[in-house]
Amino acid sequence: MLPPETALWNFVESAVRDVFRAYNFQEIRTPIFEATELFARGVGEDTDIVSKEMFTFPLRPTRPELVDEIFEMSEMKPDLFTPGGEFVSSEDKMEFEKRKRSESISLRPEATASVCRAYIEHGMHTLPGNVKLYYMGPMFRRERPQKGRYRQFYQIGAEVLSHTGDLKDDARVDAEVIEMLTTFFEKAGLEGTALYLNSIGCKECRPKYVELLRAALTKVKDKLGPDSQRRIETNPLRVLDSKLESEQAIIEKLPRIAEHLCPDCLEEYTEVKKQLAMRGISYAQNFRLVRGLDYYMRTTFEITAPGLGSQNAVCGGGRYDGLVELLGGPPTKGIGFAIGTDRVILSLQDMRKLPVERALDVYVAWMGEKNYPAAVKIARRLREAGLAVELPPGEMKFGKALGLADKLGARYALIIGDDEVASGQFTVKRLEDGEQKKLGERELVAYLKAGEAP
Ligand code: ATP
Ligand code: MG
Repeated sequence: MLPPETALWNFVESAVRDVFRAYNFQEIRTPIFEATELFARGVGEDTDIVSKEMFTFPLRPTRPELVDEIFEMSEMKPDLFTPGGEFVSSEDKMEFEKRKRSESISLRPEATASVCRAYIEHGMHTLPGNVKLYYMGPMFRRERPQKGRYRQFYQIGAEVLSHTGDLKDDARVDAEVIEMLTTFFEKAGLEGTALYLNSIGCKECRPKYVELLRAALTKVKDKLGPDSQRRIETNPLRVLDSKLESEQAIIEKLPRIAEHLCPDCLEEYTEVKKQLAMRGISYAQNFRLVRGLDYYMRTTFEITAPGLGSQNAVCGGGRYDGLVELLGGPPTKGIGFAIGTDRVILSLQDMRKLPVERALDVYVAWMGEKNYPAAVKIARRLREAGLAVELPPGEMKFGKALGLADKLGARYALIIGDDEVASGQFTVKRLEDGEQKKLGERELVAYLKAGEAP
């Protein structure tokens, strides 16, 4: 990422900070890598992310360590081992394998698991009110790189963790989180976004729906492609995700989860839709929106943006009550989302939304080695006043200095030579029209500040 594109990143990130702050979210920064175990449990062993996409490393070179540890253990508890140094019991061997796995680390593929880990580790459930956190930073997944899909990509995300409130309160939290998102996209200038909404039920109703779906899919098995055929057994929900042209008509006729929700899930889903309508947020229901992760429940949503081809999802989110508990914490409700920042940037670029780069204000054209200290002093003064100032380290001929000032896009050239230093009156030239003025140091700051772009 290079300038001037980085200015667009800064613009987007500062829009996020402003909007999220207005909704009383505070920033959390989690490590770039965590124990592999955390993602295996927190994201789920069976997800694509964990099973195929993580960059995982042993914490230490395994071979020599292994021998050392076995050696140490066999000294302390010789009866656990055969004379050949093998574990006597297979349970001990498994325990040891598990320990070995826990000594493996992975680059974070997402941050929700990390946020929940931090929540537990720092006893954040004792904080007053709901815990509202946001993050931004790089994530890593082993993917085939293409437009909008990278191995190192960036996410901006937020999570609300709570341990009080009823279904109605949950729905309000969901809607407020979505409101915050739409406010952000508006502020960032992203146009043509679409919000898709679904409820994927809970531990009670989802398994029953999955069986229903499996039965319906079994009936049409012959008409499905090999991937979907396999998923009838492994994960029927994933069939809904299929992009295969020949399967689209079949999928349209499958049973939809929204029609098979338990009373609680139905109540929450109905309330979320009511809350969105009350906030004037438009959405489309999409029964095919299933998050691949086990712990997701009820509200799920996705936001798409134009100009991205098939990688058009710029945000995915949902409710994950129970995840904190799964990771060893107290019963906790959660809802969160992650925005794909790279894709937001791509979409903005596609719309030619480029931020106005703040220009260089002043180029200091100094002449005569003995006048360099005066140039340093005045440059510092101007910078303290908030102006962007370029002070060349080496002396240059007048014409060359002005030429460079022009190429750098400076608004003013400040000329400092023998006469200026002697009289304390500096020549300032407006490069746009060549207008020149002679000003003392104090008037100079006021003059340059007044001519500043907003
Ligand atoms: P996809 O279906 O595009 O692979 P996903 O379900 O893996 O998305 P999430 O895990 O929900 O994505 O991540 C949230 C957002 O992060 C996505 O909507 C997308 O904008 C972004 N994202 C995910 N993976 C990548 C990637 N490899 N490169 C760039 N952005 C990504
Ligand atoms: Mg993916």
